[in-house]
Amino acid sequence: RTTDFTMLGTGAMGSALAAALLDAGRSVTVWNRTPGRATDLVARGARAADSVRKAVLASPVVVACLLKHASVEETLGPVAADLRGRTLLNVTTTSPNESRQLAAWAAEHGVDYLDGAIMAVPAMIGSRAGQIFYSGSRAAYDSLLPTLEVWATSEFHGEDAGRASLVDLAMLSGMYQMFTGFFHGAAMVASMGMSAADFAARQAPFLAAMTEGLDGYAKVIDGGDYTVPGQQSLDFSDLTHIVRASEEEGVDPSPIAGVQALISGQIAAGHGSEGLARIYESLRSDA
Ligand code: NDP
Repeated sequence: RTTDFTMLGTGAMGSALAAALLDAGRSVTVWNRTPGRATDLVARGARAADSVRKAVLASPVVVACLLKHASVEETLGPVAADLRGRTLLNVTTTSPNESRQLAAWAAEHGVDYLDGAIMAVPAMIGSRAGQIFYSGSRAAYDSLLPTLEVWATSEFHGEDAGRASLVDLAMLSGMYQMFTGFFHGAAMVASMGMSAADFAARQAPFLAAMTEGLDGYAKVIDGGDYTVPGQQSLDFSDLTHIVRASEEEGVDPSPIAGVQALISGQIAAGHGSEGLARIYESLRSDA
């Protein structure tokens, strides 16, 4: 007997994805490297397979939600022939080139490949609050869409399988730098005895308000004209006082010093009167 979907990996995320499928009335086969980690899912109606091969053979669509790229290679390598003619949806976090490698490997073995990048924590799966980006097989995306929408808001980013991962990692880059900015600020005020909680209470609404500036910066970057009036200039944005204050408090200034280095670079190149967003020009791949 077959099921609609097979879930390889019932860790925190794989379990959430499988549970949402079951809740939406799909039949699901589950497999996990360490046995016995899918008891809850089995209690909710999933079937447990005791080998990857049996799991793959159970469904036309195989979802891989494993730790990282190497885990996917290790798990699927031995069952390549069994995957032929099926759809492989890989939602394991991989780099863009790793996704492209898997797509090429899948094509060689007659497997329809769709890559997914999850912008959600497990608790958000099953609601529209999370987002999942996809790239790779358009046909697979279109036919799976009613099910993908069960998990989160879905977006297709093109047939180059690496694109979903690229958007994902770019989003995470912004997020981790924001968190690190908060950690750095919290370390600065710690020297005067302010707790991180007290700092967060002030920082959170400030950062939320500042995100409203993203649209304006984006318009300048997309327009390519950093002299558009109304922008905060690079000269005005000189952050050496923040770097100095951090050093004076004995706090490692490297997060803010990295930003200042980008600003200084643009000022040294003669663009001081232009907008802050010009540091994008130092970062872009053809800079
Ligand atoms: P967990 O650590 O909870 O689960 C990891 C899973 O991968 C387990 O099922 C584990 O099996 C399996 N695994 C690890 N190594 C191997 C291997 N070599 N061969 C076969 N199976 C292996 O992680 P998550 O479920 O949270 O994450 C899974 C993927 O989802 C990751 O790529 C993660 O980046 C991505 N993701 C997770 C998010 C989250 O908030 N949790 C958010 C967005 C993406 P075993 O039980 O045997 O160890």
